[in-house]
Amino acid sequence: MELTIDDVRAAREVVRRHLPPTPMWSYPVLNATAGATVVVKHENTQPVGAFKIRGGLNLLAGLRGAPTITYSTGNHAQSMAYASHLVGADCTVVMPTGTTPAKVAAVEAWGADVILTGADLADAEAHATSLAAATGAHLVSPGDTPELVAGVGTLYLEILESRPDLDAIVVPIGSGSGAAAATIVARALAPDCAIIGVQSTASPAAHDAWRAGTDQTRPNRTRAEGLATGRSFALPQQILRDALTDFLLVTDDQIAGAQRVMATEAHTLTEGAGAAPLAAILTHPARFTGQDVAIVCTGANASPQELALLATTR
Ligand SMILES: *Cc1c(COP(=O)(O)O)cnc(C)c1O
Repeated sequence: MELTIDDVRAAREVVRRHLPPTPMWSYPVLNATAGATVVVKHENTQPVGAFKIRGGLNLLAGLRGAPTITYSTGNHAQSMAYASHLVGADCTVVMPTGTTPAKVAAVEAWGADVILTGADLADAEAHATSLAAATGAHLVSPGDTPELVAGVGTLYLEILESRPDLDAIVVPIGSGSGAAAATIVARALAPDCAIIGVQSTASPAAHDAWRAGTDQTRPNRTRAEGLATGRSFALPQQILRDALTDFLLVTDDQIAGAQRVMATEAHTLTEGAGAAPLAAILTHPARFTGQDVAIVCTGANASPQELALLATTR
């Protein structure tokens, strides 16, 4: 099945029933720091604090109440729990045993069942897969699910319908589903707008897979939860292969620096992944000088440890 702009437009009919468009603002002090005209797309204002809710709503709308099982340590879990709550469907999330209690609580608060098992996300995935086979529940991959890609694509419709003149959109990448959606929308609405991905040097699986042209497994040590994947995902990689303009890497410390700038110059609390696009601009200034660039602030779910680090490290 090939995803098209029509799938994203259909997803918008679903998403707009539940969520208003998110704001998109520019901040002169931030522009001066960046040496570019930066517009911030504020997905940090979503009800679960991250853009993934758009994908969850679109997927759940098509499942007609069927129970789901998925695996995640972060925002995908909250998105599935929230969307399942809205439509009254059962949702089970398998999380590694080391997941912080606050993350478990956020998912359980929306009525989803959490199963804590395994050392990492690969273990959680294996458990979720066998549980789905045993119960008949619908297994949801956080990266390889077309309905999630189409759903998150709605944020790029919002950006490019109002600003088809943009030179570039910088997108943080974990699985790559958000960036894949961005390329689909840009190709239809603004073919001259570059789509530039960014990931952490501490978790480069998607970056390395895109450069190599084949799926890859890599160390996964970034502090930025939204960028933390130990392997690439086939569906987004296949879409990104010819369509992504460029893929940049930044360090976790550069991301933390960008989080501080987002706080002081864009009035925005962001988790690491949500500041990675700004980190890319600040780290590669020549690439963006004088351009009109959108950065997607994908999420606000910074842990207490992450916030404490922002206050102390420099
Ligand atoms: C999931 C996530 C990302 C990465 O999105 P993908 O679609 O997995 O590439 C970036 N930022 C935040 C806040 C996320 O939750």
